[in-house]
Amino acid sequence: MEFKNVTLPAKKSIALVAHDNKKKDLVAWCTKHRETLSQHNLYATGTTGTVIGEATELPITRLISGPLGGDQQVGSLITEGKVDFLIFFWDPFEPMPHDPDVKALLRIAAVWNIPVACNQISADFMVASPLFNNTVERSIPDYERYMSMRAR
Ligand code: PGA
Repeated sequence: MEFKNVTLPAKKSIALVAHDNKKKDLVAWCTKHRETLSQHNLYATGTTGTVIGEATELPITRLISGPLGGDQQVGSLITEGKVDFLIFFWDPFEPMPHDPDVKALLRIAAVWNIPVACNQISADFMVASPLFNNTVERSIPDYERYMSMRAR
């Protein structure tokens, strides 16, 4: 795979996803960092977006609920470059009907080299980073080169 550098903008497009047992944690985290989060574009899966919106009144683009395809929708937005940051508090103690989607979302986040926080402490470290509100270079698959090599 060939890679190229792109700029992760100062104003990030952050997807927020939490499994049911983790929603309280994510709501608490968003409430704590409300001011910082208000500087960015926010997306969330259906129910996560509803509970965060009610608690913080932050503007959030709500996608489909996770078990009905929301995780895949987030993955698709990452692929299109429309989401460039993922906060995903998944539940390590409960099997989910949409476990394959969870794995797919984490994989696509790794493919496109976006920052991912899967628990509160990682999210705290990230929000404390000077990079959170600044531009930073990231390396992503060079799709044009990939396609031109496949076509040969
Ligand atoms: P929800 O989906 O925000 O609609 O609960 C999250 C998930 O289970 O992936």
